[in-house]
Amino acid sequence: MEKIYWHNDRFMIYQVKQLLDDHQIPNFIKNEFAIGATGELSPMDIMPEVWLTDSEWRPKAKKLIAEFDQRRAIIASPWKCVKCGETNEANFGLCWQCGSHNNGELT
Ligand SMILES: [Zn+2]
Repeated sequence: MEKIYWHNDRFMIYQVKQLLDDHQIPNFIKNEFAIGATGELSPMDIMPEVWLTDSEWRPKAKKLIAEFDQRRAIIASPWKCVKCGETNEANFGLCWQCGSHNNGELT
């Protein structure tokens, strides 16, 4: 068994798991429900993790995850509000300044 991916955002973990599932790479999630249940531990100690059942899948899984991260980096670019010109982080669907919708224009 081998840890292949970890992230403090469980949504990312599910996406990576789905990606590996789609390619028939045996995997499972560890610490899935750890966040929020522990309190005292630092986030590093309780990050959800994706593990490979068999480390022989490692090269293929690494490659898929690298491609996934690349695609994500493009999607996660900040965007500029056309209404007020404010730059917003990618995870905001609405402009935090004026409340306009993200029209998809990247900065
Ligand atoms: Zn705005």
